[in-house]
Amino acid sequence: MKNFLEGVINRNNDKSDMGKVADYIPGLSHANKNHIGICIINSNNEITQAGDTNIKFTIQSISKPLTLMLALLDRGEKYVFSKVGMESTGDAFNSIKKLETGKMRKPFNPMINAGAIEVCSMIKGEDGEKKFKRVLDFFRIISENNTLNINEEVFLGEKETGNRNRAMGYFLKGEGLITGDVEEVLDIYFKQCSIEITAIDLAKIGLFLARGGILSTGERIVSEHIATIAKTLMATCGMYDGSGEFAIKVGIPSKSGVGGGILSVVPGKMGIGVFGPALDTKGNSIAGIAVLEEIAENFKFSIF
Ligand code: GLU
Repeated sequence: MKNFLEGVINRNNDKSDMGKVADYIPGLSHANKNHIGICIINSNNEITQAGDTNIKFTIQSISKPLTLMLALLDRGEKYVFSKVGMESTGDAFNSIKKLETGKMRKPFNPMINAGAIEVCSMIKGEDGEKKFKRVLDFFRIISENNTLNINEEVFLGEKETGNRNRAMGYFLKGEGLITGDVEEVLDIYFKQCSIEITAIDLAKIGLFLARGGILSTGERIVSEHIATIAKTLMATCGMYDGSGEFAIKVGIPSKSGVGGGILSVVPGKMGIGVFGPALDTKGNSIAGIAVLEEIAENFKFSIF
């Protein structure tokens, strides 16, 4: 398996030349566009990895299905989906337009920014810091990595430049969908996007989802149903407005982030973490998708 993964990386690393590292804040633009790594952990906890699997990068939008699971634990499915939908938009992750023009009168799903900001407003805790601490602790538990933390430079950059997200937060408050302090909610969102992880952490989270919400110790953290909601939204909306094409070409529930990571789950079988910071025009890791395509095709991993 290791030789196969190394071969996959060698065959696909030149794809990064066609992509572009996210540069909307300095903390992301430093990334080396030629990095590429993959880690796979199977249900026997056997780890296979190749390439740049120890490089830390920020989780960005991959945080969205994770915080969703915590919100579902905190508030229950009925409450959560009364304030955010379950439908894909076909628009970019940071698009605003359907917030007002869409018939739903709430963000279409929790994988787009508006929906993820809404989800952040549902996390329980006495104040913003304690709420974020619960998010961080949840990420640490499901990645089985107690050292996860935020990249302060990226957080401050997100906070300083995140005016589009700020606009969505205040719009949601105006609609009565966010009831608390919008800046506090946005800080939770910007901080969760700034949590640093590696491809190995992503593979561990993937395995947690593949097992239906159970850690490698056997401890259940979320119900199978909550894990299924997260995986289903990843499959339908996880790769931005490239989710349909990805479902056909790869067919594995996945979530990408502009830090270059992709979290993938082969249900019942394995977790996969991929890292490659050169992005395509939709914000997905360009070499990362190519690597997943080859692996899914080779092992017939598509769930469809
Ligand atoms: N922090 C980013 C934003 O809200 C997340 C982008 C992403 O990974 O999609 O713009």
